[in-house]
Amino acid sequence: MSPRSHPSKRADQLVVLGQATPRAPGEVWLVGAGPGDPDLLTVKAVKALALADVVVHDGLVSEDILALAPAGARKLSVAKRKSRHAYAQDEINRMLVAFARDGLTVVRLKGGDPFIFGRGGEELEACRAAAIVCHVVPGVTAALAAAASAGAPLTHRGSAQAVTFVTGHAAAGLGPDGQARWGEPALDWESLAKTNQTLVVYMGLSAAPAVAARLIAAGREAATPALVVENASRRDERRIATTLGRLAADIAGLSGPALLMIGEAMALADVGATVDAQPVFALEARA
Ligand code: SAH
Repeated sequence: MSPRSHPSKRADQLVVLGQATPRAPGEVWLVGAGPGDPDLLTVKAVKALALADVVVHDGLVSEDILALAPAGARKLSVAKRKSRHAYAQDEINRMLVAFARDGLTVVRLKGGDPFIFGRGGEELEACRAAAIVCHVVPGVTAALAAAASAGAPLTHRGSAQAVTFVTGHAAAGLGPDGQARWGEPALDWESLAKTNQTLVVYMGLSAAPAVAARLIAAGREAATPALVVENASRRDERRIATTLGRLAADIAGLSGPALLMIGEAMALADVGATVDAQPVFALEARA
């Protein structure tokens, strides 16, 4: 493939061509990669990946999914989970804009849905500010996959008339002892403690004791059914059925990513072997 026939199409030509060739700006695709199982990608996500000159992805995005990008596309990981080498959000924003200005088609691949605790909004704003066209492709957010594989509906006639997605963490500061402390999200615990609704907590593992204590203090029964799903839709998915009162103790061994799901409808969760944790992987095996 010569640079002449594909003037803007290769990320690895960036350095070679530099600023010598004026280019039409490329575009950014903010793409939801879903919870892990490649078969939970949307058709549109697969099509967008096939267009990529460069894929800028989170640590949570699997190799199986990255393999759907063209072989020549450059793949950059910007957020290894719990790694010190993660990029700051403004660096990622600048990177997306810079690649697009260089004429590249940029796929920003994010776990789940880009607009559910994915900071997709900030990346979209950065593109808008730089007059770069930005498309958003929704993805299956982790809560939907976790509910599906456990057979625990997020809404349920008679026991869950609402579902709320919250984060277990807000931006945290350091405590007086110099240690990082829980950044308590500004949530209306009184309202979240009401019955007949499901509460899904993203990024809630380390905050679980505090979240459970707040909800119980605000009046939610300690006996309220709770479900925790780690690695939803992945081969190593783990599900724990518990109650709000026992939640923190029962998840002590998990290292995430995991969701806390609290509410009466979680009583329907089947955490046993009878529910297939990875229906599609199983289908592949059968084919
Ligand atoms: N945009 C993502 C959420 C990113 S925030 C989405 O829509 O799913 C990261 C948090 O998402 C994790 O701390 C965890 O709570 C949750 N999460 C992401 N992938 C998950 C998975 N496969 N199983 C369980 N929880 C997951």
